[in-house]
Amino acid sequence: MAPGTSLTSLSRMALSDAVSEHAPAWRAAQIYRWLYHHGVRSWDGMTNVPVVLRTSLSDSFCLDGQRLVTEQQSRDKTIKMLFELPSGNQFETVLIPDFDRDGAPRRMTVCVSSQVGCAMGCTFCATGRMGFQENLSSGDIFDQVWWAGIKAREHFGMGITNVVFMGMGEPLLNTSNVLDAIEKLTAEDGLGLGARRITVSTVGLAGRIRSLADDGFSSQLAVSLHAPTQDKRSAIMPVNRSERTDLAALVEAIVYFTNKTGSTVTYEYCMFHGHNDSLDDADALAGICAKAPSKVNLIMYNPVDGLGFDRTPEHQLNAFIERLVSRGVTVTVRRSRGQDIDAACGQLAAKNKRPSGPALA
Ligand code: SF4
Repeated sequence: MAPGTSLTSLSRMALSDAVSEHAPAWRAAQIYRWLYHHGVRSWDGMTNVPVVLRTSLSDSFCLDGQRLVTEQQSRDKTIKMLFELPSGNQFETVLIPDFDRDGAPRRMTVCVSSQVGCAMGCTFCATGRMGFQENLSSGDIFDQVWWAGIKAREHFGMGITNVVFMGMGEPLLNTSNVLDAIEKLTAEDGLGLGARRITVSTVGLAGRIRSLADDGFSSQLAVSLHAPTQDKRSAIMPVNRSERTDLAALVEAIVYFTNKTGSTVTYEYCMFHGHNDSLDDADALAGICAKAPSKVNLIMYNPVDGLGFDRTPEHQLNAFIERLVSRGVTVTVRRSRGQDIDAACGQLAAKNKRPSGPALA
């Protein structure tokens, strides 16, 4: 193992293997608790672990992690954090607070990134323009939630209640690290979050959705649909141009997933004026929804400079919602948060740095 490998990149099993080279394997449980229950990121902080074991581990592993580069708070109180990895690559995390009518904090959702950049090349997305840079480790993902929890308590007096994998990257192209991060977030000796409070949002990789179902995935699944027909989806999402991951394959995989897990799937549907917001589009979307237990989350688009998409006007949004509801679809609307701080997918990191990496075209 290279000395630069971060201890937090290891799964529970790999940590146990590493510890058992120097000490009884049960010592790994102590270290796991320090890392993911107490959030300790220094060898000195692990006070009940023998110094000789800490020294041996530090010969092979480091505790270096991401560094907070900037933090911005929106007028609507959304907080966006930009992190930098030891590699120099940057990625972002967004804390989205929700409040009761009387202003009391009700829910703290953190939107985490799973990769730096993204290879999927969706044409409406700033991250898609960056190309793929690197996968985040399970520790990098966990630490975003930990940092967001610190900010949530500091600003709003409440810890994290929900986690969504809707930041930079395609989670199902980094599945093992994402699932390992979920284990660290949900374990009793980790952060102890409920698995159903975690949502993994995918661009819709049909084969990997089936694998999740086969592997007993117990968190929530959201799928970025964004268009209700093959042609319209292919025009904005290159992933749809392959037969293995096109709309037909995706819907089949979702039917399989919901049958196998008993879960409902959420379709994320970003409204692009003149492209996917007509009443015919609503009818086609309702047809897809009828195939598996599902609901639709309509997202009001945050226009990104130079990408050529406009926001759907309110009257069009309302007509679209009415049509879906009349056809029995459950609909929620997400008004984009943090517009004054570039809180759309990938905008902050893309603005600070524009690396170029491989991407679908
Ligand atoms: S929308 Fe998601 S999957 Fe598509 S390019 Fe952006 S980050 Fe990647």
